[in-house]
Amino acid sequence: MPYKFTFDLSKVPRFFFTEIARISYNKRMHKTLFDTLQDIITKFRIQEATGLNLSDALVLLQDLIDLQAVNLVKRKEFLKTKKRALFLSHCSRKFMDSRCHASFDASIPSYTCAHCSQDCLISKADYLAREKGYDVYILPGGSCVPKILKTVQYEGIVGVACGEEVKIGGEILGSMNVAGQAIPLIKNGCANTVFSMDTLAKTI
Ligand code: SF4
Ligand code: SF4
Repeated sequence: MPYKFTFDLSKVPRFFFTEIARISYNKRMHKTLFDTLQDIITKFRIQEATGLNLSDALVLLQDLIDLQAVNLVKRKEFLKTKKRALFLSHCSRKFMDSRCHASFDASIPSYTCAHCSQDCLISKADYLAREKGYDVYILPGGSCVPKILKTVQYEGIVGVACGEEVKIGGEILGSMNVAGQAIPLIKNGCANTVFSMDTLAKTI
């Protein structure tokens, strides 16, 4: 399920994400997280940079912090895994129409990137992950996750998607005893979405 609002964090200062990681690490010690979130939204001028109202910005920030917290908790377990896959969301393809030359195999179900555009995020992520020994899936939706995991016994999964989809995926991985690391989109909207290649490179 997508968010009911659209966002674009690509113009937000990089330090914002470092701050999120720091807060997530300390989250258990924060009794006044709500106040902290409001402060950080003001400090980084998130409303001005994204056009979000305060309550949507709070939802987004809370999700990002929750995801970072889960990533930290699961990191050790993930690093021990050997057989891994990268799940990418199809909405980050450069083209969402016939200009994308990826083939789709409904039996998996996944797209396979044909690398038609070197500046496509999916193409770059696909190259990077395969170089590191990952299998790569480009998924049309989170419902594909259990089907793939029932077919191939992966130990670790890195998933790139919007916060809500990543949360659903995380619950599936947890129920199937697979260690996951989540990379949330920094621009949503179900087309031309964006994730951080730096974060992906550090995570895998
Ligand atoms: S590089 Fe891959 S994912 Fe991107 S548009 Fe081309 S075939 Fe599609
Ligand atoms: S933004 Fe992408 S990952 Fe999120 S619901 Fe839309 S298509 Fe799925």
